[in-house]
Amino acid sequence: MSINIKKGYTKEVTIREIEAKSILRKYKKIDSWFISRYGMNLYRGCAHNCVYCDGRAEGYYVDGEFGEDVVVKINAIDILRRELDPKRKRVPFKRTFIMAGGGVGDSYGPAEKKYQLTRKTLELIYEYDFPVHILTKSTLIKRDIDIIKKINEKSRALVSFSFSSVDEKISAVFEPGVPPPAERLSTVSFFKNEGVACGMFLLPVIPFITDTPELMEEAVKKAVEAGVDFIIFGGMTLKEGKQKEYFFNALKKNYPQLITEYQNIYKGSDNWGQAAGEYYNLINSRFNSIAKKYKIPMRIPPSFYKDILSENDLVVVILEHIDYLLKTEGKSSPYGYAAYSISQLKEPLSGMKENLRELKGVGKTTEGIILEILKTGKSSYYERLSL
Ligand code: SF4
Repeated sequence: MSINIKKGYTKEVTIREIEAKSILRKYKKIDSWFISRYGMNLYRGCAHNCVYCDGRAEGYYVDGEFGEDVVVKINAIDILRRELDPKRKRVPFKRTFIMAGGGVGDSYGPAEKKYQLTRKTLELIYEYDFPVHILTKSTLIKRDIDIIKKINEKSRALVSFSFSSVDEKISAVFEPGVPPPAERLSTVSFFKNEGVACGMFLLPVIPFITDTPELMEEAVKKAVEAGVDFIIFGGMTLKEGKQKEYFFNALKKNYPQLITEYQNIYKGSDNWGQAAGEYYNLINSRFNSIAKKYKIPMRIPPSFYKDILSENDLVVVILEHIDYLLKTEGKSSPYGYAAYSISQLKEPLSGMKENLRELKGVGKTTEGIILEILKTGKSSYYERLSL
């Protein structure tokens, strides 16, 4: 079928309806980027067709041609009702945000206009009283302001928008099916005016194109003006195979002069398609300086989740955030390792206050941070680092 993706951009998209066996994905540990233990994809494939999208990579097993074929999990709501119903759970849900979006499709892709699976999912999330974090590139999310506000008042909602820059021309090349950055920014302001917390995921910045100090600063400045509560930053990965080939074809067409530089930074890519470590260090430290200049948190601030998470998850998230902040400043950090060992515990930390130093990675300083979080729900060290 031909879908009107955005003004002046229509695309042939093949929609296939399938019956899914499960919807909710449970992570092995809390994800401190999204403050979530549960995620879902109601759609597989995405007509937004961003050139850099890693949903295109073979490892995600999206059927057909990415960007042209979209699979709709037509029975998603029946399954989710079973999966979310606390009466059916032998192991109770851990309180975290349920993550809608990211991965292999956008929850507010063009197919959502017709199927409304995201909207019906939000109604279930409201009914069962979970917090939700939605990540999208689409302004269609405004349609659901009523239910998102209701969730926010009952159990909290976060709405995040992803950008590779706020440059309209570059966005038109690399994000052909997505509303232009200015429309996404005005959607941020719309949600903020409605009292819903919002974030920017400046992710991925496109090497040598949107990762310049000028464009990164412009993105941060405009996001801050729009009212975001945090900006989460990341570089681009290019997995070998379809994702890399598709990206390189677009690069050859639009920025042929950059091919050699790309070959250099992505030449030793691992399975995750990571660029050279020095490149990521450079852009992370660039972002760190800009975020500090604009005094914008680089991680979701604890005020949004400290009364939601279990004590162990709260400690894990804060330690991982400290780890991130130190590393973007080029410092070494033991906190990621400590966070991981705590994430594997079955018992609550408050029951083992005397033995914290027996945990792998926990030394005297980390012990002090953990005890402070258990007592006050926050870490003064983290707060100082975040300034
Ligand atoms: S909106 Fe997200 S899921 Fe869709 S193509 Fe773009 S990056 Fe991929």
